[in-house]
Amino acid sequence: MAEQEQSVREIRLNPIVPSESVLIATARGMRPKKEEERAPRDTRERVETCPFCRGNEAKTPPAIATYPESGEWDIRIVENLYPVLGDDRGDNNMFSFGLQQAIDGYGRHEVIIDNSSHGIAVHDMTEEHLTMLLSAYRRRMQELYVSDERLRYVLVFKNFGPAAGASIPHTHSQIIAMPVTPQNVLDEVVNSKQFYDKHHHCIFCSLIDEALTYEATIYDKQSGEVRRKINVGQYVVERGEKFIAIKPFASRYEWEVHILPLQHQADYINASEEDLADFARVLKRTMQRLDAVLGGAQYNYFLHSLPHDPEQEGCEHSYHWHLEICPRTSIPTGFELGSGLFVNTVNPEEAAAELRNVSLD
Ligand SMILES: [Zn+2]
Ligand SMILES: [Zn+2]
Ligand SMILES: [Zn+2]
Repeated sequence: MAEQEQSVREIRLNPIVPSESVLIATARGMRPKKEEERAPRDTRERVETCPFCRGNEAKTPPAIATYPESGEWDIRIVENLYPVLGDDRGDNNMFSFGLQQAIDGYGRHEVIIDNSSHGIAVHDMTEEHLTMLLSAYRRRMQELYVSDERLRYVLVFKNFGPAAGASIPHTHSQIIAMPVTPQNVLDEVVNSKQFYDKHHHCIFCSLIDEALTYEATIYDKQSGEVRRKINVGQYVVERGEKFIAIKPFASRYEWEVHILPLQHQADYINASEEDLADFARVLKRTMQRLDAVLGGAQYNYFLHSLPHDPEQEGCEHSYHWHLEICPRTSIPTGFELGSGLFVNTVNPEEAAAELRNVSLD
């Protein structure tokens, strides 16, 4: 019963946000989730009817920025035609009645057309192009924070593939500038600050150290037999000069991977051009690995960076920006929605090994 022995059934706690716990349940036959259908990849270079393709610029609002700045664009930022947050509706910023409260949904919602090539995947973009894209994210974040001091958080994210909620197939990212800090970012910021106050170092830096150097043997309480060995580098998927891609121990999604700067840095807008070049390389290689293992990854990725929120001041030593990549391979069920417990059916240690073993040139 070798397979039985290898199966994992345990609840793992996120060390930063313990309320985001995960049930790892890998045994065959106890899979509580339905697998997501694979979607055929649209690899076309240009689509006549696509509003994001070159030559169809009139079908979108005018460009806020283009990269390069002159000549044919490779990256283009425009306002979202159907913004979820937008201009102020009135002078009343906030209202409440009874137990209900609401804040005016002011903010910005923009689209970054990642590449002029319609169906290109991130792992097929050149490192130079990805560096330009990551630097476009940074510049726009900075501009938005400066544009309105009431904005607390600028969220950069990407949905790729129908399972990840991408409504337009042309590769694109989105930027949403919000009047509030999202709760999951706030939880990370507040909890990492508590850790810092107690231990005087950043929990994200500590997790990186742990991923690079930690070794442990876990014994069975009753029999004293070795239950599991945790090896050095077991959670490392990819390593660059300045960045690392890690498979979280408590991964919510089967193929979830996080990328972090090795050197402590709280705010993405402070990343240097050299930082972004290495980030681009690690991102490209991580996406290549995911694509090779999954045979076409549909995913969401998003940047978590220090909020510009006066209530969260003094967190630049305790918070550490990162990119969370969440491939969509299964559909959440009532169990997950009702319990708040994520269910992961692939053992994170095995997933990390599989990703690491993909041979790249
Ligand atoms: Zn297109
Ligand atoms: Zn740190
Ligand atoms: Zn995060």
